[in-house]
Amino acid sequence: MIPLLHHFSLVEKKLPHLRLSACATPVEYLKEFSKTTDSKKIYIKRDDLSGTVYGGNKVRKLEFLLADAKNRGAKRVITSGAAGSNHCLATAVYAQQSGLGATLMLCGQPNSQSVRANLLTMHATGAQIRFCPSWEQLSQSLENECQKLQKTDGVSPYFIPPGGSSPVGAAGFVNAGFELAEQIRGGDIACPDRIFLPLGTMGTAAGLLLGLKAAGLAIPLHLVRVVPSFIANETAFGALFSQTNQYLHDLDSSFRIFTVNDEDCFFDHSQYGDGYGVPSSWGEVVREKLFGLEKIVLDLVYSAKAFAGLSLYASNFSAKETLLFWHTKNSKHLPERLNSADYSSLPLPLKDYFLQ
Ligand SMILES: *Cc1c(COP(=O)(O)O)cnc(C)c1O
Repeated sequence: MIPLLHHFSLVEKKLPHLRLSACATPVEYLKEFSKTTDSKKIYIKRDDLSGTVYGGNKVRKLEFLLADAKNRGAKRVITSGAAGSNHCLATAVYAQQSGLGATLMLCGQPNSQSVRANLLTMHATGAQIRFCPSWEQLSQSLENECQKLQKTDGVSPYFIPPGGSSPVGAAGFVNAGFELAEQIRGGDIACPDRIFLPLGTMGTAAGLLLGLKAAGLAIPLHLVRVVPSFIANETAFGALFSQTNQYLHDLDSSFRIFTVNDEDCFFDHSQYGDGYGVPSSWGEVVREKLFGLEKIVLDLVYSAKAFAGLSLYASNFSAKETLLFWHTKNSKHLPERLNSADYSSLPLPLKDYFLQ
């Protein structure tokens, strides 16, 4: 049984969960990289290996989101993101595996090899792909699509917000906090002084902070923002943290109410660079360095920027510390059946990514 449900029996009875992952994910020591820093011990939490088919941070959220969708009798889930969204891809893969349909509403983003690869894989799952011309029109486009789907399916689709960052999704990272606490107590890693992760729709970070607090650990999170600040900011973070906390408290009153204090989180804005999805030169440098030393692959949209934040921190402060990098990107090879889609049947603006 997963640790959150093991600790809170009422949560277990009321919070449906689908096992999609191979958690607990390993914690590993980055020996070669650590040697390049000033008396720091750097560890990595391998959530890149989380899923049975496709890994990364979205899997933990989907274990609760897709279970909730099924429990409510939905036939299909609908979600949204950028054209190469890892979240939309993970949703498509695991909805299909769980017997649910998936509709993905995608907005434009800077083109790249990994955007094209993700788009093709989403397409190969058989998910319905829709294009939304701008982020401003997203909520209207989603509403229109939901109405259409309700007519064709006879029931409303289950709505998953961008990044899977609802209280239900964030519960996956509350569980991750308990999982890390068990690994610390089991001796896999000394209690880290600081945990580094990228900050997008914030469900990962808000859930993790809540899980750590509930497991009795006070470890500051160093959150490296990679999306515009109107999406990721302290106010919205606090709100998601509290909603998730209230949701779990309502399921089981022995899950206490916690508060976010100044020392809990450091919001690092230094790596955002020229925008979401635009690689930064620092990100490219650390990506190459980490691959050379440890054979760990980072993506340029999220994890390379977060690792650049860690790198900068490690070189600026000379105290001996144990740092943990939470790896959020998928690094599993996809099965053959998901490697063979034809871009020519994608909606037109998305097809353009392959024609430039
Ligand atoms: C979605 C994503 C994130 C951000 O997680 P949030 O919960 O949205 O903050 C980080 N890294 C990768 C690789 C992602 O795909």
